[in-house]
Formats: sequence, C-alpha cells, structure tokens
Amino acid sequence: MRVTRRQFFKVTAAGLGASSVAALGFSTRDALAEVREFKLARSTETRNTCPYCSVSCGLIMHSIGDKAKNTESSIFHIEGDPDHPVNRGTLCPKGAGLVDFVHSPNRLKYPEYRAPGTNVWKSISWDEAFTRIARLMKDDRDKNFTEKNADGFVVNRWLTTGFLAASASSNETGYITHKVVRSTGILAFDNQARV
Ligand code: SF4
Repeated sequence: MRVTRRQFFKVTAAGLGASSVAALGFSTRDALAEVREFKLARSTETRNTCPYCSVSCGLIMHSIGDKAKNTESSIFHIEGDPDHPVNRGTLCPKGAGLVDFVHSPNRLKYPEYRAPGTNVWKSISWDEAFTRIARLMKDDRDKNFTEKNADGFVVNRWLTTGFLAASASSNETGYITHKVVRSTGILAFDNQARV
C-alpha cells in the first residue's frame, strides 16, 4: 500500500487512534480484538443478573486475578452474557455502566435500621436484621392471620404485611420466593421482575 506524504500528515495529525490507523487502510478489527483479549486475560468470570430493572439481563462480571494467592479480587469489567436468553449479550446504558454502581462509595452493602422517631440510619448485621424481620413478621401474623372470612369460607390470608422482592435473581429464586411468601398467606406481594 502506498501512503502519500499528504495522507501521512493528515493521519498523524488526527492522532494514533484506531480511526487513524483505519484511514491508512489497515483494518482495526483484529487489533482491537487483541486489546480486548489482553484486557480480559486471566480475569475471573462470574455470571449474574443486572439488578436495575425487570428485564433482568444476564451479565458476565470480570474480576481481577485468577484467585492466585495475594490477589485481591475486584470487578473491573462487566458485559452482557451472549448465552443469556433474555439479552443475548446486549445491555442498555444503565446495565453497561454497572461497574460504576459496583464501586460507588454510596452503594449500600449492609442492612440499615432507622428507629422510630429518629432520622439516623444505623448499620446493623445481617443476623440482627433477619432476626428482627422474622420476629416482627411472626408477631404480626399471629395477631392478624385470617383463616376464615365472615361467611365461614377458608381464606388463609394475612393482609397486614406486604413483601417486595427485587429483580436481581434467577427465575428459580423468584419462583421459590413467590412460593414462600404466598405460603404465609401474604397477598400484598410484588416483585420487580413480575415473577
Ligand atoms: S441492562 Fe438495562 S434493560 Fe437489562 S436489566 Fe439492566 S437496566 Fe434492565
């Protein structure tokens, strides 16, 4: 391939980015693929579900290190899972920005509790949170569970507590969540993923 002096200056003025290389007549596809391979080499792949909306797109999360000794894992790249039947490798802009969500200093990682009458949220352990939730649910159900309605028909319902589940779960997890919640008699149940 002949590159004229004029072409050469035009291209170098535009920098040495991929588009400039393409302007010289070279294909950038292979080079970019190599860069991508290099970036993801030896990363650990973990499959997950996007937590943002009810579409529930499948993800592959790449974390640093191959679990070698003295390596602290950290997610550095997230992309759509090409084998996932919902999104087949695609992600919307929210999903494509998930790596920032993962590392956000504002991300809530532990349960918090705000006592009645205060405006202060206190971090509590998972054990504390589960014990408290279970205690409150049991007390309320014992007090308000309705076995029969006014006409004597069996209804087995519990109307004073509601349950909200999120979309970041598989179909199977959603199915089990639904079964467990319904088995308590709760009717006010919603799931972002509409399972
Ligand atoms: S990638 Fe976008 S469309 Fe898919 S689940 Fe996440 S937010 Fe919803």
